Amino acid sequence: MTVSYEELRRRLEDQQARLIEEIKLFQIDGRDNLGYGNHQADDATDAFEQTKELSLLQNSERLLAQVKAALARFEQGTYGLCERCGKEIDPARLQALPYVALCMVCQQHLEQA
Ligand SMILES: [Zn+2]
Repeated sequence: MTVSYEELRRRLEDQQARLIEEIKLFQIDGRDNLGYGNHQADDATDAFEQTKELSLLQNSERLLAQVKAALARFEQGTYGLCERCGKEIDPARLQALPYVALCMVCQQHLEQA
């Protein structure tokens, strides 16, 4: 069973909306914490929590950039084509990761480089 590009586009739009919400919440949390986290004893834990949250935030931002790029490819009519070699990306791969920009071969090539 293959999912249509329209369905993948809808999924990407949903994912984009969710990620934007998530990032917004992170930013609100960050602001609220300013000025409150000044208890000496908690500093190490706070720093750890902040680092953890920061990396989660960075993950979300990175994912959002990939999702946005994929949606832009829909606009350009190049969705589903590998950004490096221009060949069609395996539909099963798109189904699992709708935002991928590279076919399996190019992805592996880049990872080995
Ligand atoms: Zn490729």
